[in-house]
Amino acid sequence: MEFPHKMTDDRFYDEVKLKIIPRHKESCASGDEWRTSCQIQLFSKGTCVYENYSGTIKDALIKTLSVLNELLISNTDHENKCFQYGCSNDATVKYQINERFSRMGEKLDKEEYSQSRYYRKFCDDHSIRGDCSREDSDDNYTKTT
Ligand SMILES: [Zn+2]
Repeated sequence: MEFPHKMTDDRFYDEVKLKIIPRHKESCASGDEWRTSCQIQLFSKGTCVYENYSGTIKDALIKTLSVLNELLISNTDHENKCFQYGCSNDATVKYQINERFSRMGEKLDKEEYSQSRYYRKFCDDHSIRGDCSREDSDDNYTKTT
C-alpha cells in the first residue's frame, strides 16, 4: 500500500481572511439602513474550507481562534497539490520517503512500516528540499515521477 504523508507543520488551513461586508437592511417597521458584518474565511491551498460571519472584526477574531483550536483535520482533498505547507501550486514531482522519522527526529523501525510506502508531492518551486530535516531532506527521498 502507498500513502500520502503530510508535512509535520501542515494544518488544515494556510490562509485566514477577515473582511467587512456592507449590506442594506430594509424594513417597513424599523426603517432602512446600511449595516455591516465581518466575513471569516479559512483557506487551504487556495480552497475555502471554512466560512462564517460575525458582527465585528473583534468578534470574528475570537470566533476564528475558537475554530482553529477545534478543527485540526482537513477533509479537503489536495492529492494533486504541492505538499509544502502554504503552497497551492499543482504538484509536479512525487517522492517516495526512504526512511520515516518521528516528530522528534528519531528514526522509526522499518519493520513497523515495511508493508507500506509513503510519499510526498511537490511543485517545481519546492522540489528541492534541502538537508536540514531528517525525514524531509533530498537524501531521504527517491523520485518516482
Ligand atoms: Zn510548492
